[in-house]
Amino acid sequence: MKKRLALLLAGAMVLSAALTGCGAAKTDDTQKTDDKTAAATDTAAAGATPTLDAIKQKGEIIMLTNAQFPPFEYLGDDGTVKGVDPDLAQAVADKLGVKLKVVDMDFNGIVSALKSGKGDFAAAGMTVTEERKKEVDFTDEYVTSSQMVVVPAGSTLTAEDAALSGKNIAVQEGTTGDWYASGDTENTGSTIKDANVLRYKSGVEAGMMLAQGKADAIIIDQKPAEAIVASQNGKLTLLDKKLTDEKYAFAVQKGQDDLRDFINGVLAEYKDGKVDELITQHMGIK
Ligand code: GLN
Repeated sequence: MKKRLALLLAGAMVLSAALTGCGAAKTDDTQKTDDKTAAATDTAAAGATPTLDAIKQKGEIIMLTNAQFPPFEYLGDDGTVKGVDPDLAQAVADKLGVKLKVVDMDFNGIVSALKSGKGDFAAAGMTVTEERKKEVDFTDEYVTSSQMVVVPAGSTLTAEDAALSGKNIAVQEGTTGDWYASGDTENTGSTIKDANVLRYKSGVEAGMMLAQGKADAIIIDQKPAEAIVASQNGKLTLLDKKLTDEKYAFAVQKGQDDLRDFINGVLAEYKDGKVDELITQHMGIK
């Protein structure tokens, strides 16, 4: 996992080098993203309403994700998307007797892609929020998480909202970490004021920027934070304070109760520490 993440980070470095000219953290879509979007659009053209029956009939179930969120999803050495979520999604596909197709896209676009039928469900370390519940339906929760703060090693910054106020905070765009850094009190309880929020397409890229000294801190989910810190060989430190209490769930289009219930049936088989086992496995911790 460390080696894979290092490769991923190397990729992000190339990307960031390409973007240096822009100066701004809010990155334009890369060619790769465009390709992904095109692939997602083709899928949409083929896709009908993702009822359980329709999925069985087409023999394929499509998962939407952002494969830069280890250990929940990341690109494996063979270029396929690996992680806790693909493993759970594979179990769903196997139980349904269909093929699993994974569509990798920007996290920020997943909810709207799901709504427009570009995939059958989303599995993306996605936090259940009231805001998102207005757009999609969530399955049962399968992971507990928190937003955490990562700083460069040796930084004296603390994870208090008052300390983070006014700082340069790198985040993954459209995530609960973005909302927290942006001082969204209603959705996250954050009291951060006037931070300069640097929004990247992936947490991995945000980690790169922090390691390069382009930000004071990152706010990101706990396990990805640990994975990013581990990949940077002592350059970064994870602060020991949980900013939020969050739960992850898969998302389906509103009203797709059969599909949601079916997924819940599979998630129920992963209770009692089985998801933790997957997390450990994909973190590369022995
Ligand atoms: N859990 C966070 C959220 O839902 C981040 C998810 C992600 O970046 N894949 O916003």
